[in-house]
Amino acid sequence: MRADPLAYLTAELDALKAQGLYRHLRVLEGEQRATTTFDHRQVVNLSSNNYLGLTTHPRLRAAAISAIEEFGVGSGSVRTIAGTMAVHMELEQRLADFKKTEAAVVFQSGFTANAGTVSSILSKEDVVISDELNHASIIDGCRLSRATIKVFPHKDVDAARAVLKGLPGSQRKLLITDGVFSMDGDLGPLPELCALAEEFGCIMMVDDAHASGVFGANGRGTVDHFGMHGRVDVQVGTLSKAIGALGGYVAGSRALIDFLYHRARPFLFSTSHPPAVAATCIAALDVLLTEPEIIDRLWENTRFFKEGLHALGFDTGASDSPITPVIVGDGALAMRLSDRLFAEGVFAQGIAFPTVARDKARVRTIVTATHTRDELQFALDTFRTVGLELGIIH
Ligand SMILES: *Cc1c(COP(=O)(O)O)cnc(C)c1O
Repeated sequence: MRADPLAYLTAELDALKAQGLYRHLRVLEGEQRATTTFDHRQVVNLSSNNYLGLTTHPRLRAAAISAIEEFGVGSGSVRTIAGTMAVHMELEQRLADFKKTEAAVVFQSGFTANAGTVSSILSKEDVVISDELNHASIIDGCRLSRATIKVFPHKDVDAARAVLKGLPGSQRKLLITDGVFSMDGDLGPLPELCALAEEFGCIMMVDDAHASGVFGANGRGTVDHFGMHGRVDVQVGTLSKAIGALGGYVAGSRALIDFLYHRARPFLFSTSHPPAVAATCIAALDVLLTEPEIIDRLWENTRFFKEGLHALGFDTGASDSPITPVIVGDGALAMRLSDRLFAEGVFAQGIAFPTVARDKARVRTIVTATHTRDELQFALDTFRTVGLELGIIH
């Protein structure tokens, strides 16, 4: 028998096990709810990006079911051949209206929206100036573009300026930031970066995955939150988090969107969304516009839970959003905290290197609009018990 050429993978997995970083996938049984069952255990779920509870909203369910009955389950093709349905075009128009831009294009995911956009609008003569904590899909898009990548320290606008000063004025430049950073929950310095982009003639791009449905009027995102309409050339959003379904989109000028229709590789070479997904996203936009009180509830819960964790003495970093990290430093300790919380009925994912820096391992909590005060108080009580037990708080 030949030797297994993939044996090195087993060796790497064994190393993860030895470091306490090997993870089993938690399996959700039943519905996405604030309290639900994972791995046969009932837990308060603090790990989902379903910020507004839209995954189980009656209007979204009804839209999905009716689209399946009317159109079937698949689209049968990529968008550029036979996979563009009226419902895809309607969703793009609705997103452009929502974001107050000329046009929008929908991708299969936020990941492909970022990777497909950055890689197609830049080429190897260009340069991208990127926050060190930007999402992996931005990093992959930058690499695929073969542009020169200049990374600046997290939110350090002066450092970004210094990079820009050293570049030839004639070179094409893309300045890019997350709207909300997914591991720390802090906002990117969008107004300062927009000013910088204008000063140095950069294309300005923001990835609003965690801000979609969360920040700005009716959940329009950080561009709306900061009053930056018209100053961000490329706005990426996700339909997979607060919007409750699946997908990503780019909102911007008509020319940008037409260019992406012709050049963005995930758009050209990967099948479009099932019609039920597009119809569900349209229903979600209707909910954001007609039931914005759901977003208010998300923020009330956010304030309550953040203050509670802080009062217990945890290091909760510098979050501005419903994402609150509980930073413990060591990776194995973060996993231990997460496991003990789970055993006591609270699901908050442990996150370690390489997702975050080696000395910044954490348990990440995300509250939603659908958590009740009792559920959040139970979660705080459990954090207290387990935090004391593990010596993280005193
Ligand atoms: C989740 C996320 C994405 C990817 O979005 P999906 O729709 O899940 O593919 C992109 N950027 C950021 C900042 C994210 O947090």
